[in-house]
Amino acid sequence: MLHLLEQTTEQLHAWFADRGLPKYRVGQVRKWVFERRAREFQQMTDLPKALRSRLAEEFQLFSSRVVQHRTANDGTEKLLLELADKQHVECVLLRDDREHRTVCISTQVGCAMGCAFCASGLDGVVRNLTRGEIVEQMLRLQMLLGEDQRISHVVVMGTGEPLANLGELLPALEVTTAADGLGISARRITISTVGLPKGIRRLARANCQYHLAVSLHAADDALRNRLVPANRKVGIASILAAADDYFDRTGRRVTFEYVLLADVNDSSEDARRLADLLAGRPALVNVIPYNPVPGLRYRTPAVGVTARFVDVLSDGGLNAKIRHRKGERIDAACGQLRRREGQ
Ligand code: SAH
Repeated sequence: MLHLLEQTTEQLHAWFADRGLPKYRVGQVRKWVFERRAREFQQMTDLPKALRSRLAEEFQLFSSRVVQHRTANDGTEKLLLELADKQHVECVLLRDDREHRTVCISTQVGCAMGCAFCASGLDGVVRNLTRGEIVEQMLRLQMLLGEDQRISHVVVMGTGEPLANLGELLPALEVTTAADGLGISARRITISTVGLPKGIRRLARANCQYHLAVSLHAADDALRNRLVPANRKVGIASILAAADDYFDRTGRRVTFEYVLLADVNDSSEDARRLADLLAGRPALVNVIPYNPVPGLRYRTPAVGVTARFVDVLSDGGLNAKIRHRKGERIDAACGQLRRREGQ
């Protein structure tokens, strides 16, 4: 059976045309899927019954099933999805006081980048997610919202390295931004990368307005090579050059993420080095207090240390903010739920 969300618009149009069905039926189906949150074809009541049955015979609307649903006190909800091949991925809905409803989605099963402090990469990568599996996470999370509520932002910050799967991610994001898809502005979509210069340049040339976030975590190559092994092949300088290119081509300011690990990269000296490194760039820095991963020996710095780190960055002329953690109690961060399930 075909997975509906894997089909391009052209493929869907061809399927309908081949069966002598009018083109507007495709629009009706898309509206049901993306706007009206249908779970099955039988719900699509403005389609003839015979067509609904035929669609149900030939297409699967969802290829995954929800195997866990956790809700935290702060309104964060997390889903663990089981894919057709029994692999698991997680995705998260985050709500905040500004009426933002952000979904955090995964792009791979596992991750090959091997960052020393991250749960997602501890067991390596299994495979890329398909475009349909990426879109499906957003649809599943959208179903958790009230009927009058919509997803306002997307962050591609779940499990996996998005730029290692651009071939599937870009078509998925096309559906996300399309007026007859999820209709979310590209400017409200953030792609977070470990820093793959080739991927960053490719994204810059895709002529999109996505917000790019680069996970820096260290201001010199010696430390970064330790924390982010993927750095050994590329180095900070070539990542920054690619990030500059992204800004030049898209006009979008790049965010640099910095996971703060106690006594590893959290000294005032580390902050000054980071400020010097990024000086003169129209950059934003997101400082993320480490979210402890069972089995790893890293620690979260004290609140005062985090505040001091940000102050040094601000004094150095950078626009820096602390990104507070959400949904900790439901293992919402960083591949922890999938891991806990032993997948
Ligand atoms: N592969 C991409 C996106 C995935 S993770 C990337 O590297 O950017 C999104 C962010 O969470 C990254 O900055 C990542 O380094 C960070 N992160 C991973 N594990 C974390 C942890 N335990 N605590 C805090 N942040 C973490």
